[in-house]
Amino acid sequence: MSSPLHDDTALRAPPIAFDNSYVRLPPQFFADQAPTPVAAPQLIKFNEVLARELGLDVETLKQNAAAIFSGNELLPGSQPIAMAYAGHQFGNFVPQLGDGRAILLGEVKDRNGKRRDIQLKGPGPTPFSRRGDGRAALGPVLREYIVSEAMHALGIPTTRALAAVTSGEPVYREEVLPGAVFTRVAASHIRVGTFQFFAARGDTESVRTLADHVIARHYPEIRDRKNPYLALLEAVADRQASLIARWLHVGFIHGVMNTDNMTVSGETIDFGPCAFMDAYDPATVFSSIDRNGRYAYANQPAIGQWNLARLGETLIPLIDSSVDAAIDLANTVIKAYGERFQAYWLAGMRAKIGLVSEEDGDLDLIQSLLATMQQQNADFTLAFRRLAALAGDGDGDGDGGDFAATFNDPQSVAPWLERWRERLARDPQAPAARAEAMRKVNPAFIPRNHRIEQAIEAAVEDGDFSLFEALLKVLATPYQDQPAFAPYAEPPLPAERVLQTFCGT
Ligand code: AMP
Ligand code: MG
Repeated sequence: MSSPLHDDTALRAPPIAFDNSYVRLPPQFFADQAPTPVAAPQLIKFNEVLARELGLDVETLKQNAAAIFSGNELLPGSQPIAMAYAGHQFGNFVPQLGDGRAILLGEVKDRNGKRRDIQLKGPGPTPFSRRGDGRAALGPVLREYIVSEAMHALGIPTTRALAAVTSGEPVYREEVLPGAVFTRVAASHIRVGTFQFFAARGDTESVRTLADHVIARHYPEIRDRKNPYLALLEAVADRQASLIARWLHVGFIHGVMNTDNMTVSGETIDFGPCAFMDAYDPATVFSSIDRNGRYAYANQPAIGQWNLARLGETLIPLIDSSVDAAIDLANTVIKAYGERFQAYWLAGMRAKIGLVSEEDGDLDLIQSLLATMQQQNADFTLAFRRLAALAGDGDGDGDGGDFAATFNDPQSVAPWLERWRERLARDPQAPAARAEAMRKVNPAFIPRNHRIEQAIEAAVEDGDFSLFEALLKVLATPYQDQPAFAPYAEPPLPAERVLQTFCGT
């Protein structure tokens, strides 16, 4: 209700309490750049739960969400910038990439006191756009919304989706597509490629400034270590080892693990051509541009190490005044990443097959299951979910039931089941507790590629967002059986299978 008395809007707390640290870094770190307004923004989705977690004024934002999350209206306290970065793309170094279609609006401290970036994707050109238009198409925006929120619900560190808006403008790719703007939230948008940007220019002082910023922001516990820059490399390596292991545990294929798409915070970022595997095959590749399988499912841990080596190179001058000594130290850390990854991966796989104890033969047991899954075309997600059921129900008639039915020849997995049961007999957990624990690490629901494509098609062709909404709903609790959504747990029919994904830039 309006009051006749004067109401000074400038005195009200702004709906987003921006507190921007990156703009306080030296000018070579970014370019000032405001979003370019769009014709007719319309809100698709605003993530109120996340907004509350960030401490934002949800009610005020809701009144003007389309204008704010398209970049048409800039809120007080926002200091919009495009960040500078470089990167190895498919192994080739590009000394200048940068935010070509993204603008950082600013940072907030969330409810837990953690600093988070709020960034628009698709807000128009920046000094880093090269020949690009700085815009995003609706399809990739929906894909990132669905998959990043699904990753979060799966418990995997990831950037988040705060909002999606259609722009009311076309974007011109191979075809004319509806435009959209996506609002991304990240612990930070600092990448391996951000370090490379300065290292490639021989600007060691900026590398040091960036490293100090990253330590203060993401790894304050290492600040007082004897060699904080070596500790930084180690900390990033540890987070990436853990992250990539978790991708493998749910069948996630990032698709474009260029060094500019690897965060130093350890969050998953950039959902361009990503996809989840249906039938288990370690060589699975979806991205249309990944012709040699560089970023195939099973190559991801090794690529993680390759990217960390590139980060290590940028830190050499900070690690030790003797280059040889610095290289030795960095190499020790990069080699140890392999063991860390293996430990994270094995721990997660043990949990997936229901083990809380450890035996030397466990690795072989796990590999034997995976090999049978691969030979027999078993659906990765469905098989593990049904294994959980098997662990709880006891054996029944001992034929492996629904679990075995996910293999082309259900009999093929019988010898493995026998080994597994022998092993479970030496594991202390009771069957019901084991089944319960297994359900918490073996999701019933993943964002299956064919479902994402169906949701995108309905939205792009018919303006129908109901499949998008349904996917968000079912994927919000992926470890719970949701009988109403049972078809979403199923792999695609042969005619539904999606074999390729596209970057969508
Ligand atoms: P990505 O494939 O998202 O990792 O992007 C790689 C680089 O290309 C980044 O520097 C992006 O900012 C830039 N880029 C991608 N799409 C566009 C676009 N439509 N306009 C301008 N720059 C873009
Ligand atoms: Mg990128």
